[in-house]
Amino acid sequence: MSIADVVGPVVGSGIGILLILMVLAVSVGGFILWLWALIDSITRPDWAYQRAGSNKVLWILLNILVPFPCSLIYLFAVRGGLRDAQSTFYTSVGSSGGGMVGGFGPPARFCGRCGWPVSPSNAFCGNCGQAIAQLP
Ligand SMILES: [Zn+2]
Repeated sequence: MSIADVVGPVVGSGIGILLILMVLAVSVGGFILWLWALIDSITRPDWAYQRAGSNKVLWILLNILVPFPCSLIYLFAVRGGLRDAQSTFYTSVGSSGGGMVGGFGPPARFCGRCGWPVSPSNAFCGNCGQAIAQLP
């Protein structure tokens, strides 16, 4: 019995365990990223997608059906645009007392019940379902 006969299997199983741990870490990390992308895509309001030139339903579906690479694309390419759309909207609301500044499209109106920004094309509030009076 040589040293190699003893050391070989030990090193081999060590690498095996290491590989399993790495695969585990990658899959757990991937799962967390995926969950993050999914929750983030669901919680972003419709109008943020519209302002960013994107589609909420599309991205939720992509995150669920094609997690790789769509969740990564969402997190690194789409999410930033949505965040910008939301933050420019909120800052414009804050600085002008309710109206749109610089205005590139909707939302220009707000739900009378909960204050949610409502796109002119919507007949109902996307947040609370309140019917929105249509402008003439
Ligand atoms: Zn509402």
